[in-house]
Amino acid sequence: MFYYSYSQQGYEVPRMQLDLDKRAITYLPGVGPRRAEILKQEIGVSSYEDLLYYFPYKYIDRSRFYRVNEVTGNMPFIQLKGKIVLFDQIGEGRTKRLIAKFTDGTGTIDLVWFKGLAYVTQKLKTDTEYIVFGRPTEFGHTYNIVHPDVDPIEQAGQVANGLTPYYNTTERMKKAFLNSRALQNLQYTLLNSLGWKVPETLPEAVLAKTHLMPLSEAMRHIHFPESVQKLREAQVRLKFDELFFIQLHILQTAQDRKLHLRGIPFPRVGTYFNTFYKDYLPFELTNAQKRVVKEIRADMGSGRQMNRLLQGDVGSGKTLVGLLAMLLALDNGCQACMMAPTEILATQHYATVKAFLQDMDIQVALLTGSTKKRERDKILPAIARGEIQIVIGTHALIEDTVIFSSLGLAIIDEQHRFGVEQRARLWKKNTQTVPHVLVMTATPIPRTLAMTLYGDLDVSVIDELPPGRKPIVTLHRYDTKRKELFNFLRKEIEKGRQVYVVYPLIEGNEKLDYKSLEEGFEVFKEEFKEYTVCMVHGRLKPADKEREMQRFVSGEAQILLATTVIEVGVNVPNASVMVIESAERFGLSQLHQLRGRVGRGAEQSYCILVSSYKLSHETRKRLEIMVNSNNGFEIAEADLRLRGQGDIEGTRQSGEGLDLKIANLATDGQILQYARSIAAEILNEDPQLMSETYRLLNERLRQLFSGKLNWRLIS
Ligand code: ADP
Ligand code: MG
Repeated sequence: MFYYSYSQQGYEVPRMQLDLDKRAITYLPGVGPRRAEILKQEIGVSSYEDLLYYFPYKYIDRSRFYRVNEVTGNMPFIQLKGKIVLFDQIGEGRTKRLIAKFTDGTGTIDLVWFKGLAYVTQKLKTDTEYIVFGRPTEFGHTYNIVHPDVDPIEQAGQVANGLTPYYNTTERMKKAFLNSRALQNLQYTLLNSLGWKVPETLPEAVLAKTHLMPLSEAMRHIHFPESVQKLREAQVRLKFDELFFIQLHILQTAQDRKLHLRGIPFPRVGTYFNTFYKDYLPFELTNAQKRVVKEIRADMGSGRQMNRLLQGDVGSGKTLVGLLAMLLALDNGCQACMMAPTEILATQHYATVKAFLQDMDIQVALLTGSTKKRERDKILPAIARGEIQIVIGTHALIEDTVIFSSLGLAIIDEQHRFGVEQRARLWKKNTQTVPHVLVMTATPIPRTLAMTLYGDLDVSVIDELPPGRKPIVTLHRYDTKRKELFNFLRKEIEKGRQVYVVYPLIEGNEKLDYKSLEEGFEVFKEEFKEYTVCMVHGRLKPADKEREMQRFVSGEAQILLATTVIEVGVNVPNASVMVIESAERFGLSQLHQLRGRVGRGAEQSYCILVSSYKLSHETRKRLEIMVNSNNGFEIAEADLRLRGQGDIEGTRQSGEGLDLKIANLATDGQILQYARSIAAEILNEDPQLMSETYRLLNERLRQLFSGKLNWRLIS
């Protein structure tokens, strides 16, 4: 929290009192060392501030009291008002339980405890009016409520006046009596000790402009909502807070970079670019490609360092755009490199680029983990001397032994597979200045996520496929209908087409997954005796993988069985059918990526999602979306809605997953947009946040993001 509160009254609260992030939770009355340890380990709460920001995950309406004689066997959580008339302990050992007969004059119901009996008997008394909250269950001829919440009637107001918050807890916490209720009590103790005042994080000017609820009030209503309306306002305020500071951080970082990092200016569009464009480009660029090339040209010509994310659906022609950008670098006397996440993809890019440039005098090299030493010994010095102008490769590119003479542009394909650290090392490849960076991704990222994860990158979008592509027809089939599937595949193969069959390979389940791939291989070989079936997976040696792949690329094999190693990049235009086995086990964007492997030629292509019959509601929805949409962005949005942000592919892999406490990128797009616009306005007014008005923001930023200092500079 802040050292000072810049409150309306203008007084300063002493630092000690407000340093909530530095005050250890162990000192909060009711916690102590043992519980503090548990809170830290289980939910990461170690300071006063951590606890305040540990928000309820749901609220239950306790606005109405039921009468005991209204209780039936299938009610949700309800509350009753009455007295305990009698306690009774029955059973021995594990069946030992405490029963309290509870009545409100209309009838009697049993309250039952199996655990914490001593505590309950000590706390609860007969003939005292209580509020009881819980879920009634039918038990013989009567009803009972197991482990209810019981509060003295005087606390009715504090019991949240209708809305009861629920906090996530773990088994271990519950054993230490740190259940949801206990957490709420701790919140009460904490807020009470602060006089229900929490240092404000937003300057007055921002509060005035946005009409957001002050933080103190928001903290009160998020933990002890007075009404649904107040709760909503509190939620909006806290979500805004969370998103606002992220955006402020991102935008300020981007702004600093623009101010301080000078890029290598590429003023010329020269012979390489023009010759290729006029004489060798085998087709007309799509309008989207033209637009993006213009954006890239403007960026690299500006003297600023380009840091651009290029999004485009699979097959939209990103590689070609990348190639044009590389030619611009060459035209300006620089080298360029392109880094791909897998050997297969790097090799394919290399082949593509070589083919495009075959009639031009440009030196291109491939550098991967399996480049032979002899070859490497030739390539590395040539890169260092600047003779090799374009280098395409895998992680091998970022090894220290790779030294460029003048790297002007680094392209990173399918970036979510590279960590931030790896991207940073590519940056350092040019010691004088930072090369321009173009990140290409075929995993469409929902706008809200993009704004948050890559909010500091400029974004170009190719939203148009090259002409003449027939939309892929996607079908969902149950694995019980194998005969029909085989018949369909046979018909397609007879027409001269090739078929991919992909099996899931999920971490932690490799053994079984490989087994089903091997079994599938036997089945397909048996079924398609007259054809050739080949197989690639991650356990093959690179050379064997390459050979098998080649059998398919050359057309010798009609069917390729694979794990997701083919996910990225392979381009076999004649392959027009993609069968995805156990499709229910893939994520949406992964399914979409795989589907993008077909539909590259002129024929009608198919994607067949094979699943078992038993599917969860969510999975069924997922497959339905695939059947109904070919649009990567639509799918990404749907994915975000279905699964929430935590699970989106690409965020976890990149190791920079967002840890949002209250905002939800799937549903809070509007708040995010608003927060971003306010952040931008403020930075426009006061770029360094040094004015009296905004100094508070500076301190909060430092508190929130120090330690993660400037990692965004390298994305
Ligand atoms: P991405 O990397 O975006 O998935 P690619 O760059 O691999 O897509 O392009 C897919 C295919 O489309 C390639 O065979 C490429 O040569 C071709 N292609 C790219 N741009 C065009 C265009 N403007 N017109 C026709 N074909 C194109
Ligand atoms: Mg590609």
